[in-house]
Amino acid sequence: MDIFEKPIEFLKGIGPGRAKILDKELNIRTFRDLLFFFPYRYVDRSKFHLINDLNESNIDVQIKGKFLDTNIIQQKKSKRLSAIFSDGSSNIELIWFKGFKWIKENIDLNSEYVVYGKINWFDNRPTLPHPEITKVNNYNIKNISGIYPIYSSTEKTLRYGISQKIIREAMHNLMGILKNELNESLSNKIISELKLKSLKESFSNIHFPKSDLDLTKARFRLKFEELFFIQIQLLKRYRDDKMKIKGYEFTKVGEFFNTFYKNYLPFDLTNDQKKVIKEIRKDLGTGSQMNRLLQGDVGSGKTIVALLSMLIALDNKFQACFMAPTEILAFQHYDNLKSILKNMQIQVEILTGSTKSSIRKGIHEKLLKGEIDILVGTHSLIEDKVLFKNLGFVIIDEQHRFGVAQRAKLWYKNNFPPHVLVMTATPIPRTLAMSIYGDLDFSIIRELPPGRKQIKTFLMGENNRLRLFKFLKEQIELGKQIFIVYPLIEESQKMDYKDLMDGYESICREFPLPKYRISVMHGKMKTEDKDYEMKRFLEGKTQIMVSTTVIEVGVNIPNANVMVIESAERFGLSQLHQLRGRVGRGTEQSFCILMKGKKISNDARLRLETMTKTSDGFEIAEVDLKLRGPGDIAGTQQSGLIKLKIADLVKDQEILKLARKYAKILIDTDPKLNHDENKNIKLELSKITSNKKIWNLIS
Ligand code: ADP
Ligand code: MG
Repeated sequence: MDIFEKPIEFLKGIGPGRAKILDKELNIRTFRDLLFFFPYRYVDRSKFHLINDLNESNIDVQIKGKFLDTNIIQQKKSKRLSAIFSDGSSNIELIWFKGFKWIKENIDLNSEYVVYGKINWFDNRPTLPHPEITKVNNYNIKNISGIYPIYSSTEKTLRYGISQKIIREAMHNLMGILKNELNESLSNKIISELKLKSLKESFSNIHFPKSDLDLTKARFRLKFEELFFIQIQLLKRYRDDKMKIKGYEFTKVGEFFNTFYKNYLPFDLTNDQKKVIKEIRKDLGTGSQMNRLLQGDVGSGKTIVALLSMLIALDNKFQACFMAPTEILAFQHYDNLKSILKNMQIQVEILTGSTKSSIRKGIHEKLLKGEIDILVGTHSLIEDKVLFKNLGFVIIDEQHRFGVAQRAKLWYKNNFPPHVLVMTATPIPRTLAMSIYGDLDFSIIRELPPGRKQIKTFLMGENNRLRLFKFLKEQIELGKQIFIVYPLIEESQKMDYKDLMDGYESICREFPLPKYRISVMHGKMKTEDKDYEMKRFLEGKTQIMVSTTVIEVGVNIPNANVMVIESAERFGLSQLHQLRGRVGRGTEQSFCILMKGKKISNDARLRLETMTKTSDGFEIAEVDLKLRGPGDIAGTQQSGLIKLKIADLVKDQEILKLARKYAKILIDTDPKLNHDENKNIKLELSKITSNKKIWNLIS
């Protein structure tokens, strides 16, 4: 049997009872689990504190002294042992609520002790609940290194008496058993280039560091190791996909593309737009299916990139389809394409949930005959399995749900699946993208088209409301339109709905008919009613749109230049950024006003301040990642973000880059890991994949 798979109940110091609790509470079952149960922090136990010097910054303290007195105190229903301990500088109370009979009987008032524990402040007085106590005679400082590991515990593990000391001792025994089993898992080349400690030393030092330097090195090695093997798997899978998923080879750029480019391009492309089109063109010529994610802030001009890419498909005698998340957006894209392509022989059609069945039938037939070149629609295009004659290119716009892209891959028509371009205005931080979307290629548009004005963003409280209304009236006077958005959170729907309607009423009072006309839109309305309201606003028939976040995605209303976000502290950063992106589409100055409530948390404050400081979506995404952690970022839930044991995707970005770099070199030079120098890596990888541990978590 693999020693690493041995159940921990057979480890000295654990036994069946503790094993059961550790399994239930901390998911530790095998020797391997315990080995990877890393301390979450360390304390320095080379020094002794003086009771007199203790202050609120002390967390763990170690004191040397004598017991003066011990008393069992009965209070209401509970009993506790209270012991007075003195180190000569002052006294401190040590407290036990459990198992104190034995302690009381065994405390020797004449001996010197070392006590250690987490300090608790009560009425400005420090106490030590449930400290570790050791007689100085037994406390052999040489046995215990200066730096002590601290492992996670739960209420139950503590109640069951699984103390830090017990874990430490078990870990000690474990290291004794495993020390000859921890074979090197990296190549000599990597070890020497990165000056890594051996695997054995690293494990030993992560649990029992002899110095800060040892600990730093051990951490580095183990983090690198973890990220490196994940990267290898991602890159291998990506490579295998490329080999496996053949795609249509678009050999030429022809008539459609060139004519459009020469005669009808409405503006000069930005450098980033040109760069991305080049990247796409290159992909389309390789004979593999393209799966590309195009990230670019709202207004960065992704649509024209989509259009030019579709023209390449058309030049190669293929059809293209353009999917938007909502009907309104689909129509917007459709109208835009129709008008921009009006002088060219290109058939554009639209198909959505509300397309009448008679028309629908006609479209289905034309699609099959190849009489439609570009089909615009909603995601229902995929669900309804609309059939094409030869679909070669799919654009998925404003998509955070990657499942759709996944399914589009399966949209095999003739021989191959179509090429897929997913466009999103919610940037995924690079590090996160590298760690989870190993199978997508990335293009980024960072540069905004020339002439855009920065959206001015202000943070305001309730006391500024009158000023806000005055400002809104001025903007309406100038012929501008305004969004006012209220939060809608699933859990508090009823309350939120009430807030929205109260807000709407007060706005109606403040902006009365006939001078002012107001639209309202929320999730409880029927789709037709929403569309109707949206249309009125779009056509300029109303000046204010009061709504929940239903307007969040892509809608383009160039005349709207003010976005007011009510209770802004309740929105997430990426949502705030998305909402702000609804304005600032025209050439005139736009404004975003964040109305904040009275009580806001520190995180919320940071979110709002970030919004006032920057409009760079990537910067905002990085802050968002730091605040929320990777698990909550859009899209990652679906991908089942890897649960890392030691590395941290936010804090260890540099190590991640390094791991990525070395994994890439490895896979490029020795894709099957057959070189002798990589045999350790191959062996380790086969262990990991046969364990399926990481795999399951990734895919
Ligand atoms: P998004 O990336 O948010 O989808 P769009 O493609 O809708 O952005 O573009 C936003 C606006 O910018 C559109 O009105 C578009 O016509 C305009 N635009 C795009 N690219 C350029 C450019 N290179 N120069 C000038 N205007 C541009
Ligand atoms: Mg768009």
